[in-house]
Amino acid sequence: MPPRTDRSSRYALKQDENSAEHLEWLRETFDQPWDIVVIGGGNAALVSALSATDLGARVLLIERSPWSLRGGNSRHTRNIRCAHDFADDYVTGPYTYDELWNDLCGIGSGPSNERLAAFTLEQSQSAPGWMSDHGVGWQPPLTGTLNLGRTNRFFLGGGKALINSYHRTAERAGVRVVYDATVTRLLVEGDRCSSVVVESGDREYLAKARSVVCASGGFEANIEWLSRYWGSAAENYHIRGPRYNDGLVLQQLLDAGAATAGEERGFHAVAVDARSPKFDGGIATRLDSIPFGITVNREGQRFADEGEDIWPKRYATWGANLAGQPDQIGYTLWDHQADELFLPPMYGSLSAPSISELAVQLGLDPTVLTETVRVFNEATAPDARTRFSPAGLDGVTTAGILPPKTNWALPLDKPPFHGVPVRPGITFTYMGVAVDESARIVRQDGSRFENVFAAGEIMSGNILTTGYLAGFGMTIGTVWGRVAGREAAQLATS
Ligand SMILES: Cc1cc2nc3c(=O)[nH]c(=O)nc-3n(C[C@H](O)[C@H](O)[C@H](O)COP(=O)(O)OP(=O)(O)OC[C@H]3O[C@@H](n4cnc5c(N)ncnc54)[C@H](O)[C@@H]3O)c2cc1C
Repeated sequence: MPPRTDRSSRYALKQDENSAEHLEWLRETFDQPWDIVVIGGGNAALVSALSATDLGARVLLIERSPWSLRGGNSRHTRNIRCAHDFADDYVTGPYTYDELWNDLCGIGSGPSNERLAAFTLEQSQSAPGWMSDHGVGWQPPLTGTLNLGRTNRFFLGGGKALINSYHRTAERAGVRVVYDATVTRLLVEGDRCSSVVVESGDREYLAKARSVVCASGGFEANIEWLSRYWGSAAENYHIRGPRYNDGLVLQQLLDAGAATAGEERGFHAVAVDARSPKFDGGIATRLDSIPFGITVNREGQRFADEGEDIWPKRYATWGANLAGQPDQIGYTLWDHQADELFLPPMYGSLSAPSISELAVQLGLDPTVLTETVRVFNEATAPDARTRFSPAGLDGVTTAGILPPKTNWALPLDKPPFHGVPVRPGITFTYMGVAVDESARIVRQDGSRFENVFAAGEIMSGNILTTGYLAGFGMTIGTVWGRVAGREAAQLATS
């Protein structure tokens, strides 16, 4: 379905790609110089575009995906994590700057650039208000075992609704959007980029602008690039978001002399159902069962602490945990008593009255798996069931086995038993371009590009090293999108 809201502003005309009307619209779009070209169509791009139009800039936004799939990874999101001092209609209690800072320092190797990370947290406090002012709606706090009701705000209708709301606001603000259009090159001379090359259909266009904002995501959909750091294991990764985030623009920036930020192997990756699509499976393919059972590898052996911390702080370690296993596959197992504690798996589970029968269904050695479960069960505490509390860290731990399970360690002894094969699901990569406080991209010699800015995943390596806090990707995109849009607009309109 093409958008039906194309009025005189010709916000996002997208009909038959080769129709004379569409080609004429593209010609007219690319014939005129813009104040700002924003590359990308996810959260960071839209926030940049809106922040720039707030200052009166004329913005052209170039989105690689078709209209129906617009919004990049952002369309899959549900929530954002921001610091706040008080409860309100959408969060159940305070989550102060200091607590968020401690949480950020507690994951992976802590913040990448402490100054920029601190700035991100400070600015997160005003993000929800800004988002509401630009059309985002919120839903009442989440309850249940995800433990996010106090720290994270949930978008009414999820990420897709957020993207649609921002587009409605952008349309009113006069932003022009071109879909199905890929930025393939940045024409950089010295410290300036005067135009970008755009491919649409079988034609090439030049988009001219005073400032350029790069918000085109990470390189997680580029398996070849991932395999430079992960070897052939990368072939077995699932990519949770769209195919479009392949790092094309990031590579252009690096070729033009941009400095990198973040670790090459840094990524956000969770356990996803191995039966899910290779690309774009979204939120529903994630397996939330891990803290409530055990997870074994192809050899039927446990390999990591399934109960290390509450889900929002630890779920993103499981992609890397699985990436280190033979064939990058694991099997998450639970029993009847855990059935109601997490979102049911999208494709259902394999189930059996005994562990050995479940092993056969999963293609595992029944003797080995039965022994693994026996050893695990023996290591659980006699009073585990009375102390078990899924709502928080309960300290119900195993004794005498490696790896331990440090919370929620109930024996698996209540049939039926369930299992699902899981693989690493890559959400986004961290290694990107270095930026300064104005979101300007830093060059390898330490100088800045004068008119090239970055926001979102493409610069998340300035903040994140290896770990992740649920909801923080949208924090980074929103905070830095606001900065990039504002600074790009100030430069373009001065
Ligand atoms: C399933 C899933 C669930 C998630 N849930 C959450 C959540 O609840 N909370 C949270 O904070 N984070 C979540 N994340 C992470 C979050 O999606 C990202 O951190 C955030 O969306 C990044 O925004 P972005 O704008 O930088 O990138 P994206 O939203 O991925 O946008 C990148 C855009 O660039 C476009 N693009 C790429 N290359 C080009 C090119 N060459 N030319 C033109 N356009 C190009 C893409 O089409 C896309 O529109 C989730 C991610 C996934 C996959």
